[in-house]
Amino acid sequence: MAATCASLTIAAMNTSTLTSASRALPRIAVLATGGTIAGAAPDATNTSGYQAGVVGVGQLLAAVPSLASVANVQAEQVASVDSKDMALALWVTLAQRVNTLLDRDEIDGIVITHGTDTLEETAYLLHLTVKSDKPVVLTAAMRPSSALSADGPLNLLNAVTVAGKDEARGQGVLVAFNNRIHSARDVVKTSTYAVDAFHSPEIGALGWVQDGRVEFQRGVVRPHTNASPFAIGSVASAWPLVEIVGSYAGASRVAVDALVAAGVKGIVVAGTGNGSIHATVQTALAEAAAKGVAIVRSSRVGSGHVMRNGAASDDALGFITAGALNPYKARVLLMLALASGQATPVALQQVFDTY
Ligand code: ASP
Repeated sequence: MAATCASLTIAAMNTSTLTSASRALPRIAVLATGGTIAGAAPDATNTSGYQAGVVGVGQLLAAVPSLASVANVQAEQVASVDSKDMALALWVTLAQRVNTLLDRDEIDGIVITHGTDTLEETAYLLHLTVKSDKPVVLTAAMRPSSALSADGPLNLLNAVTVAGKDEARGQGVLVAFNNRIHSARDVVKTSTYAVDAFHSPEIGALGWVQDGRVEFQRGVVRPHTNASPFAIGSVASAWPLVEIVGSYAGASRVAVDALVAAGVKGIVVAGTGNGSIHATVQTALAEAAAKGVAIVRSSRVGSGHVMRNGAASDDALGFITAGALNPYKARVLLMLALASGQATPVALQQVFDTY
């Protein structure tokens, strides 16, 4: 973990006030972590051969002068990473910084700029570990800042707009992207290239933001933030080792056996359909469960949910089902649940049925 962290550019948390708009405006902290929104390419037509996370937060904000009429913004460069390389240590730094800032009366909300690749994982981690009703809104971009029709500036303006609205309080962590507002629990990246890259399959967006207007069309049902029992402090010194394996035609038990030998505490399966698992892999997972490894069935399908199979399989094998969480979010919840001391399949199933 230390080696991973050392490769990050974590700045000294310098806070600079970039706008001095009226005190009546909401006071929003923008925490930058890198990603394509902070990416730059050699020319404006290049939207794939760029370097992520090389443009500083000051430059990102300067590209959106109209922010000054929306919020009183202060900025911090928390990291400068391509989010494919997101590290658990950086999650801890980010969550702790968010909680520290939100504790302050002079901060009304937070916007986090992030890469799109793991945005849904970071958002869900924060959804479960931020302890505040104040808005926390993640945003990102599919095109680097240097691109023709870069989507970052408008996404940033919209995210700050959402973070400054009273209606966004108490909704948990939000993602503002391409004019839509999503719940951190539901949102997933669904395109490798399109600017409309984030959706909440099955359940849809929470609302929208356009031209300074924000409208929420539904609420968030499951507990989060202040109502979540999970704390980032529980994983600050050590994360339980939880990995993901797939199920597919011709799958073998090699990966599961290697993970068990490595001392993994949990395995999330990206199963087929309703989280079904190739018989060969299932046998290996059942043996792992018998040794105390937490086994969570999720689905590789991309929408829908995974139902428990009842006494004949899940109960007998000691498996847990992920419901509507995709494998990557299921891994986040499983790590937090294990770190909080939940250990039995029954207790862990209760966690998955609740958060
Ligand atoms: N690789 C980039 C990242 O996640 C992709 C993006 O931001 O769109 O940081």
